[in-house]
Order: sequence, then C-alpha cells, then structure tokens
Amino acid sequence: MSSVATAPQTTLTFEEKLDRLAKVAVEVGLGLQEGQEMVLTSTVDALPLVRRVTAHAYQAGANLVTTLLADEPSSLLRYQHARNESFDAAADWLYEGMAQAYRNGAARQAIYCSNPALLAKEDPEKVSRANRAMSRAYRPAMEQITKFNINWNIIAAATPDWAQLVFPGIPVDQAVEKLWNAIFTACRIDQPDPVAAWKAHDANLHKRADFMNARRFHALQYHGPGTNLKVGLADDHKWLGGGSFAHNGVYCIPNMPTEEIFTTPHKNRTEGTVRSTKPLSHQGTLIKDIEVRFENGRIVEAHASAGESVLQKMIDTDEGGRRLGEVALVPHSSPISASGILFYNTLFDENAACHIALGQAYSTCIENGENMKPEELAARGANESLIHVDWMIGSGEIDIDGLHADGKTEPLMRKGEWVAE
Ligand code: ZN
Ligand code: ZN
Repeated sequence: MSSVATAPQTTLTFEEKLDRLAKVAVEVGLGLQEGQEMVLTSTVDALPLVRRVTAHAYQAGANLVTTLLADEPSSLLRYQHARNESFDAAADWLYEGMAQAYRNGAARQAIYCSNPALLAKEDPEKVSRANRAMSRAYRPAMEQITKFNINWNIIAAATPDWAQLVFPGIPVDQAVEKLWNAIFTACRIDQPDPVAAWKAHDANLHKRADFMNARRFHALQYHGPGTNLKVGLADDHKWLGGGSFAHNGVYCIPNMPTEEIFTTPHKNRTEGTVRSTKPLSHQGTLIKDIEVRFENGRIVEAHASAGESVLQKMIDTDEGGRRLGEVALVPHSSPISASGILFYNTLFDENAACHIALGQAYSTCIENGENMKPEELAARGANESLIHVDWMIGSGEIDIDGLHADGKTEPLMRKGEWVAE
C-alpha cells in the first residue's frame, strides 16, 4: 500500500481512496491486533467497503472477522406488517453473543451508513418502543464499548438514500460521489499520508484535552442566540480527545472523523436554556430547533419546531434521559464545519460543532472511573441512561467561558474559536 500512500490526491481513484479509508480504520482507528477477532457491523449498502475492511483486518493478522449486515428495506417491513407486540421484541441472543465476543477480546468495527430519514414516516410510539427494546438487549455489549474494555472504531459509507438527503436535487450518482468525497476529506484520506495526518491530528487533540485537564474548571458557561447555559462538570472529570488506550491495552481512535474533546458533566448541575444549532437525526426522524431548559441538571421544558414528539419520547426513556451525559468542545473552524455540509449524521455533525449529549455518561471521563461501581460514578455526578444522544449547540456565534470553583472565569471560546492556549 505504500505506493498508494505517497500518490498525490488527484491521481487517486475511488477504489484507492476506499482502500485507504479501510486501512486507516483498521490500522489507526481500531488498532486491530494480530490474533484478535473482529465483529464488523454494517448494512448491505456498504458491501464494497465491508470487503476492504475485512481484507485489511486479515492482513493485519485478524484471527476471525464476523460480519453482521442489516438491510434497511427489511427493517421497514416490520413497521408495515409486524403485529403490535413485535415492537417490544429484540434479538437478545444476538446482542448477548456480541457482548460475549467482546468479553472474549474481540474488537468492534462499525461502518455506519443508515438512512437518517428511514423511520421518519413511522409511528414514533413504535419506533421508540423498538429502540427501547433494542437498547435494553444491546446494553451488555454496549457496556463493553462505553467502558472502553475493547478497541473499537466507527467510520461511515456513502449510500444513495443518505446522499440524496445531504445533496437534494442532483442526480443520485452525483450525490453519492459528493458524499464519498466529503467522507474522504473529513477522514483525511486525500492527504498525502493519511496515517501521518491522523497521528498529527491526534496529538493536537491531546494537547487541547491536557490544557482543559490542567485548568480543572468547575463549570462551563455558554452564551449565544437562544442559549444561556451553565454546564457543571462532574467531580474528578477528565477531558478526553482523539485516541487512547482501551483496557485491553490497545491504542485506538474510536470515531473517524473526530474533532472533539469531551468530558462528563455533573448530572445535577446544569442550569439555563440551550438551543440546538443543527437538526438532530434521531432514529430516522429529524428533530429541528430544539430548545430545552434545565433546572438542577434536569430538563424541565423541551420544544422543537419539528420532531417534538420524538424528542419528548426520547427524554422520557428513563430518568437519565433528561440529564446530560457528555459535553464536547469543537472549534467552529473544524474541517467538517468548514465543509458547510449538514450530514444528518452525528458521527460527522458532532464534529462540526460544540455539543452536549443527553443520557449515559462515559465512565472513562472520570478519574479512575473504569474501576468504580455505578454508585461511585453517580456520586461524582456521572449520569446513567439507556440513551446517549448528541446534539449540536455550537456555532460561529457561541462564546464559552470556563468557571472555576471560586467564581473566577476564563474565556475559552469566542465566536466558536479557541481563545485560550
Ligand atoms: Zn461527542
Ligand atoms: Zn456523544
């Protein structure tokens, strides 16, 4: 692959770029180890990339690659034909098997390419029930990922449905090509040496996280159109960004792309109002212009100009669904933001803007959190929920200050850009 790695971007064919994406995912993102197993999840739309990832996995010494492919038209048939009880069912046996694979040391590679609007026309009640059942069944496997017990990575693949949503009004093959190019650029695939580019970018994110960790802020204060929000940070919180060592000792960069540094807010210490700056694509529905008000960390009022009923059902999933589990800082000048594209996909859009997530907190963002019992994590303010839903609150109009425990403030971002060094 070295001849491909040094070729200038203009001479790269689509096939070469696809191959680079697979290589970067497996080698830099996932850090797949010789002899390790891989569980690969995707949809049938991404088969060309699935096969390249599989090839790179075996070339990196994978012991076994097990691929699970979903088919979105088949998923829709459930909403058209299944009996009512179906929507409380989930394939527990499958998710338990995935959890067991992870407990036995398998790495997890995901290729995300869901149509963000797939379930937009379906009954939100059924969508919500199906997702709750799936979340419950998936929890043991999900825990292996959120506790960072295993190395994992997620990349995206362009598909016709997704591309047409992102680039409406042009022929579908052109839309797909444009979306692929956006993915390649966001993932640094068209840089002369994508592996080196990722290592430099990773070092940069670590520098930012180290800065925030040295500051030990008590809270962040956000000001912007429709936003006046104070987010209290969890006790013993830790900022993370880019890659880190999973507990199996493997260095991995889970999200590709990634531009964020993030930590765990205190579940009881968020106050004020916040307005979303990009639509949230949640379980096939677009939720637009979210406006929520927090009191003592809990959402007491929630509105949206579109998808409000889905938003209400989402935050009603459980008590933790109304509280924050993540806060993340992304400069407005990030390459994803600079592209000007709304991807309708959190993997990309969350890297275009500062964001918050409702629901489950990452224990890895608490000092020694991975060795703590749930009650110890909760005592430090880490939220617990079946959901973890990121949405964007950053823009070129947002100012953020760091607040110290003694009340002193320090400017962090002005008009969406870092000011502090
Ligand atoms: Zn995030
Ligand atoms: Zn998140």
